[in-house]
Amino acid sequence: MAEKRKLEEREKLKEELLEKLEKLKEEVRKSGEKTASELEKTIGEIGKDLEYLSKDFAEFFKETFEKPQVKEAIARTRSWLTSALKNAADSLLRYGKELDGLYDAGDLPAGKYECIRCGRVVEHKGGKLTGCPTCGGTTFKKID
Ligand SMILES: [Zn+2]
Repeated sequence: MAEKRKLEEREKLKEELLEKLEKLKEEVRKSGEKTASELEKTIGEIGKDLEYLSKDFAEFFKETFEKPQVKEAIARTRSWLTSALKNAADSLLRYGKELDGLYDAGDLPAGKYECIRCGRVVEHKGGKLTGCPTCGGTTFKKID
């Protein structure tokens, strides 16, 4: 019973988060008219929810994957589930890095990027930025 209630709580939390994300999308769409402090509240709420959910999901997966029948079911869908989880984690990680001004090699807007491994500054004209020409590093800090 407790497990069922937990699931319902998660479901409710998920719905609330999706609603907030919709609200944020809408607010960002109209962001020309909105000030940063008006957007701050929504973004702060989502951040808190994400923090909570990430802990909750980690616990959920840990509990769930200990059951043999779940392990077997997972094994059958592994490639799909693994890539779905990995993609979600990758995009969140990428946004987390961008918040710190860090970018992974790939399609990046024009600007000056500093390799965080060796400090080489690359003037990028836009498009695909491959690894650092000096050390091959793939994470850059945008400096201009
Ligand atoms: Zn480098």
